[in-house]
Amino acid sequence: MLNIIIFGAPGSGKGTQSENLIEKYGLEHISTGDVLRDEIKQGTELGKTAAQYIEKGQLVPDELIINILASVFDSKKSAKGVIFDGFPRTIPQAQALKMMLAERDTQIDAVIALEVDDKELIERLLNRGKVSGRSDDNLETIQNRLQVYHSQTAPLIEYYKTEGLYSPVKGTGSIDDIFARIKKVIATL
Ligand code: ADP
Repeated sequence: MLNIIIFGAPGSGKGTQSENLIEKYGLEHISTGDVLRDEIKQGTELGKTAAQYIEKGQLVPDELIINILASVFDSKKSAKGVIFDGFPRTIPQAQALKMMLAERDTQIDAVIALEVDDKELIERLLNRGKVSGRSDDNLETIQNRLQVYHSQTAPLIEYYKTEGLYSPVKGTGSIDDIFARIKKVIATL
């Protein structure tokens, strides 16, 4: 399998570039944000709990997300590979992912990190908020999400550097230019 983590702050373009990766390499997509929004829509217990965190721009507790991840992964495991989008977001999530994949005789092959500065992220998310209808795309929640990213998620940069998997990519410019940079990274795998 070719398993890739698409990594970056909220608004860095993970979802957009995931779509490109799916089309080009025939990979399956696991977006934990989409999984959670789906649970909310269906009104499940998990969805109800998750909504309380998402609306404040906080992370959903690790154990909730880790618990559903294995079953989501297993539903896609016959695929050529999987793109993890929005997961992991904390060190415990990264450790759980590593163990879950090892139990299935597979692993993460690369962490592609989209680098975009906060000023541009805020602009992008405010613009997305005008059309997305997402309750978390408003200024106050966006600022919380960026703070959470820097304190809880950014430590994964060092973690994946140590694992030898970290591949930074400049996340600004046209969508095609950014995807060209990503393809270059994948060509080295
Ligand atoms: P973005 O990357 O733009 O913040 P996502 O759709 O990936 O958007 O996530 C939206 C929200 O869902 C997050 O702010 C967080 O509350 C919750 N969430 C998504 N993935 C995770 C995760 N792996 N761990 C904890 N919370 C998560």
